[in-house]
Amino acid sequence: MNRNDCLALDANDALAPLRQQFDLPEGLIYLDGNSLGARPRAALARAQDVIAREWGTDLITSWNTAGWFDLPRRLGDRLAPLIGAQAGEVVVNDTTSLNLFKALAAALHMQAASPGRKVIVTERSNFPTDLYMAQGLTSWLDRGYEVRLVDSVEELEGAIGQDCAAVMLTHVNYRTGYQHDMAAMSRHAHQQGALILWDLAHSAGAVPLDLRRDGADLAVGCTYKYLNGGPGAPAFIWVPERHQQAFTQPLSGWWGHARPFAMAPEFEPAAGIGRALCGTQPIVSLTLVECGLEIFEQTSMQAIRAKSLALTDLFIALVEERCASHPLGLATPREHARRGSQVSFTHPHGYAVMQALIARGVIGDYREPAIMRFGFTPLYTGFAEVWDAVEILRHILDDRAYDIAASRGAVT
Ligand SMILES: *Cc1c(COP(=O)(O)O)cnc(C)c1O
Repeated sequence: MNRNDCLALDANDALAPLRQQFDLPEGLIYLDGNSLGARPRAALARAQDVIAREWGTDLITSWNTAGWFDLPRRLGDRLAPLIGAQAGEVVVNDTTSLNLFKALAAALHMQAASPGRKVIVTERSNFPTDLYMAQGLTSWLDRGYEVRLVDSVEELEGAIGQDCAAVMLTHVNYRTGYQHDMAAMSRHAHQQGALILWDLAHSAGAVPLDLRRDGADLAVGCTYKYLNGGPGAPAFIWVPERHQQAFTQPLSGWWGHARPFAMAPEFEPAAGIGRALCGTQPIVSLTLVECGLEIFEQTSMQAIRAKSLALTDLFIALVEERCASHPLGLATPREHARRGSQVSFTHPHGYAVMQALIARGVIGDYREPAIMRFGFTPLYTGFAEVWDAVEILRHILDDRAYDIAASRGAVT
């Protein structure tokens, strides 16, 4: 394998033309779409139109004429095919943390007829906000619920028992890129009478998903990572039709009401997925989510997955071959079925090495402890970029061209 082989792969890549739909600085190798997706070219004109015309000229009439009020549902319907959901089962709104809170609260409520079920099972290695939201909900409820943290996938099945109300898992781990077997885990949770909630923050737009087929009960996820919705873009929540009747959540704001503009003093939940909504959304940001989804509609998650595995396989092989003399440890599964769309390597000076990479135009990020994360986004990342990124990494390591005393920014 050499650089020319990588150029040949790019020349034969059916997804390569989609890169033109993103605006990325020339010469930059962006391997952080797992944290903040690149900007769809269309987003700039869309933002201009929303601000100048929809807001500036049409003002409040835009709630109707520009479809602002229906936007959470409309975007949810467009996102649904990417996760194996049906129309009317997804809304885009609020943050992942907030949607997780709603979903967890709803799950506990759905289990209220089984007072012996007091435990939420999750992994200690889960993204902290998921753990914090579960801890916040259970301690605030003060009804004997507890969050059970498990240290390995092997322990997980044993930890899900008759006392378990809900299992809350992040499908692809943010640090290692480990991907759970959704169907197997959902089956096991159901055999024990538990509900299972999936956080798709590192899965939606990254790996093929089939929530209905794989037995998920509820799901939430991000739009600003692989879906390229923009910084802080609203998140999504999925409530399958079969659970919508039983789904009640405590953030019962007016957008979740059956008739918001009846201005009634009593809350009455909307009939379908609308009951997962809470209040007024950041419309400028929300509208931009559509620009990311439009690009996904020009390809398939199968094509994206095939290229993602080729990119991550190539990156792993090249790093292991060309940086073999350095203390790098692969933290991501080699097995395709267990891998998301990122590759993580540990290095004793991971933070400093990542800073050196960023200074040379290879953008990844760093997560404690000692993990360098590289996200691979098939819509805009090419094979020659993988080659170049590894060469830059090799030079940095060979020359020890990193500063282990570098001070840290607030965001790593
Ligand atoms: C990125 C991410 C989040 C982000 O939550 P916010 O509410 O958007 O800050 C939550 N959970 C997981 C697993 C994530 O990867």
